[in-house]
Amino acid sequence: MKGRVFSGARPTGRQHIGNYLGAIQNYVKLQEEYECIYCIVDIHALTTLEDVSEIQSNIREMILDWLAAELDPRRSILFVQSHVPQVMELHTLLSMVTPLGWLLRVPTFKEKARMQPHNVNYGLVGYPVLQTADIVLYKADTVPVGEDQLSHLELAREIVRRFNNLFGPVFPEPQARLTTYPLVLGLDGVAKMSKSLGNHIELAATPQETDAQVMSAFTDPARRYRSDPGHPDVCNVYTLHNFYNPDQRDLIAEQCRAAAIGCVDCKKLLSQGINRALEPFRERRAAITDSYAGEVLADGAARASVIAKETIQEVKEKMGLL
Ligand code: ATP
Ligand code: MG
Repeated sequence: MKGRVFSGARPTGRQHIGNYLGAIQNYVKLQEEYECIYCIVDIHALTTLEDVSEIQSNIREMILDWLAAELDPRRSILFVQSHVPQVMELHTLLSMVTPLGWLLRVPTFKEKARMQPHNVNYGLVGYPVLQTADIVLYKADTVPVGEDQLSHLELAREIVRRFNNLFGPVFPEPQARLTTYPLVLGLDGVAKMSKSLGNHIELAATPQETDAQVMSAFTDPARRYRSDPGHPDVCNVYTLHNFYNPDQRDLIAEQCRAAAIGCVDCKKLLSQGINRALEPFRERRAAITDSYAGEVLADGAARASVIAKETIQEVKEKMGLL
């Protein structure tokens, strides 16, 4: 039997190269061997969004990004989280077996609470429980994510183990699947590239926007003047050449170390590489109609609902509710 994959992303903006390198490239590959379910997690977006007017347009952007990245709706289920409401039922049921202490320890909760002290909502604490419900509602065993999600996945396994111990073996323990680029840093070279931090390069940006964004990136902090030798091993821009200019990366490193090229030259080469790599993606994206994208999401929700209803029935039986 094929294994099952689940992963989700928050509709808080268009997808960026960190999302692609850390997660989406695995979403695409895993379609060959697994039954894959990819979800636009709109309820999760509500934990940090105060202005909800953009959720629908962000969902549209995300499905366009995913289809253009070659997620294939004939093979995979692509849907919006709130369109299959059983996940909220499962979230409530799982919350009964999740000790509050586990949730208060989660590093992303502490970080979000620091970032938005005026809005430390209950949903923020329960985020990993809803995320566990997302995954186990479909009994997924494999979860392609970036490194930032590993602590959530660890917690998901703990919740699953506790549930299975109390009520019998219902859920597989979900395992994270990382790419070779599990943590892409933002243009600032310090924080994780994130939609919500605005330090990102969108896949769907125009070549001119990409040039400007790459030009604003921080490079080797120890190289102050054009004549200083560079240190590619500590330069965030250089890291991206590994993916976007694999053929030239050794030469670029050599020229950087010898100060034969400056950071501006290096960044020009990077934006050329990114624009070259993303051109087919951008062409495919421009050709996708809204009505097709809408049909994909409706069909995905219908297929996801069938699995979700079966799982909820089983969970309720085990928990003595039927
Ligand atoms: P937000 O700032 O709204 O949380 P985000 O940029 O972190 O947005 P998510 O939708 O939270 O994006 O994440 C989608 C997927 O992309 C997740 O699997 C996440 O681990 C992965 N991911 C996000 N940012 C990066 C990154 N910088 N490097 C590698 N993987 C990433
Ligand atoms: Mg995130």
